[in-house]
Amino acid sequence: MWIARTVDDCRRLRATLGGRVAFVPTMGALHGGHVSLIEGGRRLADHVVVSIFVNPTQFGPHEDLARYPRPLEEDLRRCEAAGVAGVFCPPVEQMYPPGEPAAAITVPALADMLEGEHRPHFFGGVCRVVMKLLNIVRPDVACWGRKDYQQYRVIDALTADLHLPVVNVVLPTVREPDGLAMSSRNVYLSTEQRARALGLIKALRLARALVEEQGESDPRAIEDAMRQALEAHRLAVDYAAVRHPRTLAALDCVEPSLTGGVIALTAAHVDQVRLIDNMPLGAAG
Ligand code: AMP
Repeated sequence: MWIARTVDDCRRLRATLGGRVAFVPTMGALHGGHVSLIEGGRRLADHVVVSIFVNPTQFGPHEDLARYPRPLEEDLRRCEAAGVAGVFCPPVEQMYPPGEPAAAITVPALADMLEGEHRPHFFGGVCRVVMKLLNIVRPDVACWGRKDYQQYRVIDALTADLHLPVVNVVLPTVREPDGLAMSSRNVYLSTEQRARALGLIKALRLARALVEEQGESDPRAIEDAMRQALEAHRLAVDYAAVRHPRTLAALDCVEPSLTGGVIALTAAHVDQVRLIDNMPLGAAG
């Protein structure tokens, strides 16, 4: 497995890979969700390249950039064990050379709502780093986790609009046995906070039951029920929303059998730790 720390080395080593390349961009602190993306990439292509880069431009000034976990040696071992061909793990100066004017890339129609409303820096930073990474690695396929569903939708729209020759694939959310979505940020949680974090999956399962078992069709009623379930776990809710799975637009009516399903999305704080999750409801599920 090669390890590239500069843009030039990454380009040179990537060029040695014959056949199709799948790319798994990450911020490291790898867990089972990342490994399932690597495994998905191996099924879809001849080689998998992983990037490990804690991208400063997607963090707001009061967010967790400084304390974000960075267990690089362990991450590299996990990549090697998972059959990764190469890892790109650049220092910040490689990705953002000092003095270079910043490009601004966004997809406002998808990025200004939900996560973008609560984290105004987020999608500008994500779009910028993803465009850089795709241009450096030049993969045939890029693998994205459904856990960050809005991110996948934004990037898929971005690469389609800019005619990038990459196929974006979204793979299922990997969960702990009790349903908590795996996340690099779960290490911040105490035992008591970890228990309260289950409010996210409980709220999403409640939304699914309301639609699929009780035929609830009023999105506001589903959103209210999700919010109550989150608050019952003493979570501070950023959003609890039922949306169109492609446009992420708000809906007047939930008709899973007619629309091909809808998606419930939520973000909430367990004290200082912010977590997100989502679940398809109805036919899409
Ligand atoms: P991150 O390192 O958190 O930026 O995530 C890198 C990639 O892993 C993104 O495509 C995420 O959507 C994906 N990912 C994160 N957590 C999970 C999970 N629990 N299941 C599946 N994919 C995930």
